[in-house]
Amino acid sequence: MTHQFQFQCVLPNGIHARPANHLEQQCRQFECQITLTNHRTNNSGDAKSVLALVGTDTLLNDNCTISFEGADSEQACQTLQTYIEQQFPHCDEVLETFSDDSEIVLPQSLLRHQPHLITGKRLAPGIGCGVLVAMSQVDPQQFATAVHDDNEAQRFEQALAQVSTHLNHIIATGSHHEQEITSAHLAIINDSSFIDGVTALLTTHSTANAILAVMEKLCHQLEQSASSYLRERVLDIKDVSIQLLTAAYPTVLDNQAEFSLQQPSIVIANDLTPSQFLGLDKALLQGLVLTHAGSTSHTVILARAFNVPTLSGIEIKDCAAALNHHVYVDAQLGVLAIEPSNEVCGYFDRAITLANTLKQQQSQYAHQQATTADGHTIEVAANIACSVEADNAFAQGAEGIGLFRTEMLFMDRQQAPDEEEQFNHYREVLAAANGKPVIIRTMDIGGDKPIDYLALPHENNPFLGYRAVRIYPQFLALFHTQLTAILRASVHGKAKIMIPMIQSIEEIRWVKQQLAFIKQQLTAKNIAFDADIQLGIMVEIPSVAFIVDLFCKEVDFFSIGSNDMTQYLLAVDRDNASVSKLYNSLAPAFLRLLKQVVTTAHAHGKWVGLCGELGADSKVLPLLVGAGLDEISMSAPKIAATKAQLTEINFADSQTLFAQACECATIEEVEALLEQRHAQAQVKPILVTQCVFKGADFANKEQVIQALVGNLGIQGRTDDAYKLEEDVWAREAVFSTGLGHGFAIPHTKSDHIRHSSISIAHLDKPIDWMSDSGEVDFVIMLTLNKDQGDQHMRIFAGLARKLIHESFRDSLRQAESPEAIIAIITEQIGL
Ligand code: PEP
Ligand code: MG
Repeated sequence: MTHQFQFQCVLPNGIHARPANHLEQQCRQFECQITLTNHRTNNSGDAKSVLALVGTDTLLNDNCTISFEGADSEQACQTLQTYIEQQFPHCDEVLETFSDDSEIVLPQSLLRHQPHLITGKRLAPGIGCGVLVAMSQVDPQQFATAVHDDNEAQRFEQALAQVSTHLNHIIATGSHHEQEITSAHLAIINDSSFIDGVTALLTTHSTANAILAVMEKLCHQLEQSASSYLRERVLDIKDVSIQLLTAAYPTVLDNQAEFSLQQPSIVIANDLTPSQFLGLDKALLQGLVLTHAGSTSHTVILARAFNVPTLSGIEIKDCAAALNHHVYVDAQLGVLAIEPSNEVCGYFDRAITLANTLKQQQSQYAHQQATTADGHTIEVAANIACSVEADNAFAQGAEGIGLFRTEMLFMDRQQAPDEEEQFNHYREVLAAANGKPVIIRTMDIGGDKPIDYLALPHENNPFLGYRAVRIYPQFLALFHTQLTAILRASVHGKAKIMIPMIQSIEEIRWVKQQLAFIKQQLTAKNIAFDADIQLGIMVEIPSVAFIVDLFCKEVDFFSIGSNDMTQYLLAVDRDNASVSKLYNSLAPAFLRLLKQVVTTAHAHGKWVGLCGELGADSKVLPLLVGAGLDEISMSAPKIAATKAQLTEINFADSQTLFAQACECATIEEVEALLEQRHAQAQVKPILVTQCVFKGADFANKEQVIQALVGNLGIQGRTDDAYKLEEDVWAREAVFSTGLGHGFAIPHTKSDHIRHSSISIAHLDKPIDWMSDSGEVDFVIMLTLNKDQGDQHMRIFAGLARKLIHESFRDSLRQAESPEAIIAIITEQIGL
């Protein structure tokens, strides 16, 4: 019997590996043959093969038919049709592309040195320098000469087993990104169209030629795709094919010199496979230049994870002359600088120094205890979703893990992790925490976080449905396993257990019974655990806010899940674009609820944190501090900046601000209040020691301007140092800012300066400023805000008048410290 139905693909990225994987899983439960036909491309593929599905090149809005042939085709057709209509549209996230296509203005401080620049597409940020080395590709055709014999099936099987073991090892030990990418590679070699394709050829072809034939067929299909995402998967297929070929014929590449880096290097290659990237010494790899990589290629995803500045779209032949020579890759500006002159080196070396200073400055805050200007401390913790993130979170200054979303351990796999695997993950995080608290949230599965192997029913309103603590009674063994793993790990640090989506006292009492039962079991088996482990709940369902006092008798702590709380309180689906305008945690109702929860919990001596996205919003931070939260948990990269911001916040003022915000009638009023506070808090003094350089070794005018403007970026005084620099040079282009007697006053009134600033450089050696004004050793740069009326000309004129006097000039030159220079200018100009 044949059955079929039609559908239109609604996935923004088409049917690439992840949705193909979901669809394949659905199809596998049936006996009948299932084929997907794409009517735009006329490609058909076996729906039980991920590669065949990907090979149909199905993109957004393509019309397709799925046909069924065989015994259970009627039932399969019905089930699949429901699945395609209801679940398939939600099985993929929109891919982040990361590549930055915004227009770049190359700074004059670089261009004036006439650099030799090759522009490329910016794929992973940063600036790096090193020797340019070309990485040649392994040509898979080298294996084509292998001859066929009687052992082909065995040879292929062994190669398959060897590569699978290697990939599984990376999955078990690698970072999150390595795991994801390697899993995709494992899926390719386990795919029926790959294995069956090769196996079918082995009777007549050598293993090498069988692999090459299947590789070429699959790559050809993908190369035809209109989707750049699918075209970029060609490299993954080549990568695993080469790994299989090398495993099957280990001696073929013996004569090919092993590629390894010997010194700080920028690697250039046509393509670089993910496994080649992983094989490079990251301590020496300073940058990557790729001819063909796209922004979603797996190699580029790894480059971002390892902070390797990366450009694409540059041909090796265009920089042949620079091979084995010193070059710079600047992935902020999107350029590879080859054959750099001393001046160009000076520009990039300073740009690297500025970037490092910024990093260092942030890391200073990262490892300080988060404290407000008036000495109030508040914990700043990290949200993580997998154990490998923990080290990085603590390196970025986390004072604890405020939310470990354990459900990620259960997703994207065929079965739940067992007790041992979970125990290892929890122990790993506790070890990384080194005594700091780790809040492990039990699985928040279901609803919008579906897990195939639990076969949860499809729901029309998953956020209000069968999820989190609500599914635990049905999957009791799973819940018990997780509690056991957490309790066993609890002897390795300060673990706390947090239950998501709690709505009633009955639920938490049930959880406590289960916890007591598992504790009893462990005690009976003589297995150690922390008997005093704290139990807390997520406050994300509004009903909890009204009975916090009752919950205080049941639990040790609370963490407010502002993401869900906002959607439930305001009845706005957090993922629905048509109502996204209504999703706003600054609603006075939300703030009053926050107040209610914190005040009641504190009155009962309980601790309250917040772990939703709101915690990372710098504008809202004063309100969260004012609300009296004990902790705020956020993604790790935001921690250092949050701690820095806290040092500028006054707790007492924030409490007043929060009280005022709770009295506002509308979101607009709350926003206006925050805006007003932001503006007041933002005024920084115009002249500070951080902007004064004595004995500076700037070699030319370009370096002076680059360094002074770059420093304003580091000090948080400009949001766009490149544009501010443009404004400074625009003024230089119209008239000389050299005033004679060795002084220059470059100046601008710009939109790109957030805090009006005077920057000063007293150079140790005079430099050429402009032909008509001679040499300069004292630079006073004015970058003033447009809001501040005539201040710009007033300061400029005041300085120019004073500089006529030799005594003023001498006093500035003789001033022994930045403070002394600031004192003289402040007094004489009357700032
Ligand atoms: C929340 O709801 O705010 C929260 C932190 O949980 P999740 O985003 O995982 O639902
Ligand atoms: Mg939540």
